[in-house]
Amino acid sequence: MTDERPLLEVRDLVKHFHVGGGLFGGPAGVVRAVDGVSFSLRRGETVGLVGESGCGKTTTGRCILQLERPTSGEIVFEGRDLTKLDDVELRPFRRRIQVIFQDPYSSLNPRMTVGQILAEPLAVHGIVPERAKRETRVRELLAHVGLLPQHAHRYPHQLSGGQRQRVGIARALAMEPSLIVCDEPVSALDVSIQAQIINLLEDLQREFGLTYLFIAHDLSVVRHISDHVAVMYLGKIVELADRKSLYDDPLHPYTKALLAAVPIPDPELEARREHIVLRGEVPSPLRPPSGCVFHPRCPIAIERCAREVPELREIRPGHGAACILA
Ligand code: SF4
Repeated sequence: MTDERPLLEVRDLVKHFHVGGGLFGGPAGVVRAVDGVSFSLRRGETVGLVGESGCGKTTTGRCILQLERPTSGEIVFEGRDLTKLDDVELRPFRRRIQVIFQDPYSSLNPRMTVGQILAEPLAVHGIVPERAKRETRVRELLAHVGLLPQHAHRYPHQLSGGQRQRVGIARALAMEPSLIVCDEPVSALDVSIQAQIINLLEDLQREFGLTYLFIAHDLSVVRHISDHVAVMYLGKIVELADRKSLYDDPLHPYTKALLAAVPIPDPELEARREHIVLRGEVPSPLRPPSGCVFHPRCPIAIERCAREVPELREIRPGHGAACILA
């Protein structure tokens, strides 16, 4: 169940990285990893943030998690702009925004048992101060993610990829978050396991009223879980819509190309849709193209596209696209 107040508002977020220019560092430059991104998330909903590698989606997630400080823009979470807070003021907010990583193996301490991994944040953050109650809570957390009490005694290397991701989810849940940034949480898993993990995330969302930012490079992965989808290209959102409009009637040529790579089970929709094949590679964010950054790869680009920067504008109610021809 969603309510209307946004839990998170990202406003004109910019994150630039300065590179090179040192003694052996080559010419100096600025990587425009995130270049003016705005979207909001209501409580209990999921926004899918999708794009090819290097489009800025993970950096956007890291800025929301405050693992990166933005160059400019606002990240308003539960009514406070996190970009204005110092480390002490940020502490309570950090707890309520958790992350699930693509590869839980590298984020789980190999020398700790699953029980210790889950008990540690409960103790460190004073969520469950008494030891005996912590053990009960660990068992509850394991049950929430479909693991057994005996899994508490195993080490990460003794678990399958799917079980490790369940531990990663349980560790995020231990912090009692309101927002979870899911950063490609199923990309490293087999397809059959991907569906189980996505179903689990949906069940937990319903049970605990969680809000997700679900980052993925593939539109098919976020299709079932997302209420809204934002498509990113070279640091910008090029299309933003509710799930149905985006998948049934995409407006931006880049979204159409991404969708063309995903088979549609409905033969009627499959027959009607345009098939667009992308040319070339994503350009370097160090030297983004002029005008519409998508123009060198766009199959319908016209001469104006190399000069004009298209703004993300609402083309249909609730459906925005950044294309001068949309
Ligand atoms: Fe393609 Fe031009 Fe639209 Fe950019 S503005 S997506 S280049 S048609």
